[in-house]
Amino acid sequence: MKLSDLTTLHVGGDAADVLEPTTRDELLAVVRDTWATGDDWLLLGGGSNVVVSDDGFDGAVVRVLTRGIERVTADTAATRPSAYLGDRRVRLTVQAGEPWDGVVDYAIQNGWAGIEALSGIPGSSGAAPIQNIGAYGQELGSSLVAIEFLDYLSGETLRIPAPELGLGYRTSLLKHGRQGLVVSLELELLEGGVGGPALSAPIAYEQLATTLGVRIGDRVPLDELRSTVLALRASKGMLLDPSDRDSYSAGSFFTNPIVSENFARRLPAAAPRWPTSPEERDVSVPLGETPGLPAASCEYQVKLSAAWLIEKAGISRGFALPGSRAAVSSRHTLALINTGEATADEIVQLARFVQTLVFAEFGVRLQPEPVLVGVSL
Ligand SMILES: Cc1cc2nc3c(=O)[nH]c(=O)nc-3n(C[C@H](O)[C@H](O)[C@H](O)COP(=O)(O)OP(=O)(O)OC[C@H]3O[C@@H](n4cnc5c(N)ncnc54)[C@H](O)[C@@H]3O)c2cc1C
Repeated sequence: MKLSDLTTLHVGGDAADVLEPTTRDELLAVVRDTWATGDDWLLLGGGSNVVVSDDGFDGAVVRVLTRGIERVTADTAATRPSAYLGDRRVRLTVQAGEPWDGVVDYAIQNGWAGIEALSGIPGSSGAAPIQNIGAYGQELGSSLVAIEFLDYLSGETLRIPAPELGLGYRTSLLKHGRQGLVVSLELELLEGGVGGPALSAPIAYEQLATTLGVRIGDRVPLDELRSTVLALRASKGMLLDPSDRDSYSAGSFFTNPIVSENFARRLPAAAPRWPTSPEERDVSVPLGETPGLPAASCEYQVKLSAAWLIEKAGISRGFALPGSRAAVSSRHTLALINTGEATADEIVQLARFVQTLVFAEFGVRLQPEPVLVGVSL
């Protein structure tokens, strides 16, 4: 089977073997058996955050297709810190293969708040903690209580509480080091609508607030928030749509760099920057220095706009290298897209070109957001 058929960038050669377990027991058995062979293995959900080599994958690909959303408790007690304590909580167990956006839709239909701004993010629920999916001012980490995890090293299934997952800006310990299978998620949401329409969590994203005509911190009906986010995403080609070539991507290809305040001071004054929260301080070090080394811990770190850096380095929307079928999206500078039959190699060449120009102009090495399988930047 061609992996280009299983990934949203539509690149990737053949897989030696593709297994498609649909129940929890089957999934655990298939993954354990696969590990026991000692061969290479790859877990795949919706394939929306991977770049797979044109050489394919010489091992077993396990597509996680388990389904199930179960309400486990309805509790008045506040069990997680929140700015809007007092609302009733509901806990859900979600099997890893559930499409993420279906979970968001289900929550909204039931009047449960906490993940509504994550509407329209493609892929499976099991992959959501891998990079702590986030958008429009919300992150999975705010609603994730724990994961059920099949650990590669011990072969045991464990319940890992969210605070132990190292969740940060587009990162987690699962993305960087800890190997295994996310079997299911435990989410805690808010029953936000007693005596009126169910309301969203407080809005924390300027563009979303502006589009809705409200202020940061306001809450709006959940379905209004969802439709606004979906419309915003569609306008940027960030909603999967077979008829929209700009959505043939892996989402944002680069993360927003996190640099020291000292380094940021040397950038042009117009460069957008935001202070980072403490948990983001050790996740990304694109300082133009050796990637992977933490910056001085006593220094403040700031998040830069990768899109701004790319544009100011001279790469505009729609840009493509001569003869290449990979391009920068015509509506979102951070997305690299497959304009038709592009190879993984073409995507990688474009990504390297973007990285080189940004590094030459600003001394910042952009880090890829998707997981690279058999390719490197
Ligand atoms: C148009 C578009 C828009 C996007 N917008 C956003 C956005 O706004 N915010 C955001 O954060 N992301 C966004 N993304 C990226 C992507 O949708 C998310 O990262 C998503 O969580 C990936 O899910 P997936 O099932 O497709 O993962 P895959 O691409 O299949 O896998 C990604 C990684 O997770 C691993 N994995 C998958 N399932 C499991 C499992 N059950 N257990 C352990 N590891 C597993 C894989 O091995 C791989 O390393 C976007 C992508 C696209 C194409």
